[in-house]
Amino acid sequence: MTRYLVLKNGKFVRSRIPGRYAGNVTHRIFGRLTCASGLRLMHAENRVFFLTWEDAVAAGYRPCQKCHPERSDRYARRDGAWQLIAKTGG
Ligand SMILES: [Zn+2]
Repeated sequence: MTRYLVLKNGKFVRSRIPGRYAGNVTHRIFGRLTCASGLRLMHAENRVFFLTWEDAVAAGYRPCQKCHPERSDRYARRDGAWQLIAKTGG
């Protein structure tokens, strides 16, 4: 099973869930798990994941300008892939 490298309490740990944002180590950018450019450009070894927006920013990453991640993003695993699910309020 895939193990994601997730920043947790200041340390990167292996997790079965990726958290809410995917980051690129080389470019110091974080974006949505569903970001097309992220999925295409990021080699597996360059990918890290963040549980919260604050974690990503504190680690020195900036938001992706293609997918515009938001603090309220939530994901669910559907049909074998992580998908952005509808926000609350509807
Ligand atoms: Zn992106």
